[in-house]
Amino acid sequence: MSGLPPVLLLDLDDTILDLSRSAQRLWTTLCHRFAPDLAPGTDPESLLAALREATATFWRDGEARRWGVFDLERARRVIAADAFSRTGAGSGVAAFAFADTFSRERLDSIEPFPGAIETLDTLRERGVRLGLVTNGRSKTQREKIERFELGSRFDAIAIEEEVGFGKPDVRVFRHVLSRLDAAPCDAWMVGDNLEADIAGARSAGVHAIWHDFESRGLPEDAPATPDRVVRAILELLEG
Ligand SMILES: [Mg+2]
Repeated sequence: MSGLPPVLLLDLDDTILDLSRSAQRLWTTLCHRFAPDLAPGTDPESLLAALREATATFWRDGEARRWGVFDLERARRVIAADAFSRTGAGSGVAAFAFADTFSRERLDSIEPFPGAIETLDTLRERGVRLGLVTNGRSKTQREKIERFELGSRFDAIAIEEEVGFGKPDVRVFRHVLSRLDAAPCDAWMVGDNLEADIAGARSAGVHAIWHDFESRGLPEDAPATPDRVVRAILELLEG
């Protein structure tokens, strides 16, 4: 297993699962599906743009982010209501129906990145022990873990709500490393979030690999510099 560490820690959302882009696809589908039944003249593309703006506004707000990550259904209602109000697409009731449809269809809209699941299996075949380190609510993350049969692929799973703290808190890294009976120097962490995954891992003394799945490049104001950048976790097998 040259070139690979004894332990690999992985983030779930936007590292194994293609989450953000599948959300955009579902918002787009729903805008086109709902537009004919909304206020006359509602343009699906304008509604989509308003949803993007409302989403960015919501998640930029520290207080909203704190509760939103644990109550995504309510967060989506707030975001949709804001977008509907900005565009005059319809009432709050219509916005809530739109958001609730998204919540119902969300799980089925998610796909893993191409080759991601196979990469996990190959890493295990090569003797790497795997830890899943993910922020968010137990119910939401467990649904995804079950749907993609990830539970049996990991030697340890740490979910923010279950553990009591989330990335970038170093305690979550210490927690999962202790469950894997590993030291920080034995492990790599791979994730897409420069604050949670990269700054967090580096604070914990873990080799940090940034999953730059959109090929954006490292921003100037990055909170931490990763030790390595990959565009797909498949690249980890290349050494
Ligand atoms: Mg992520």
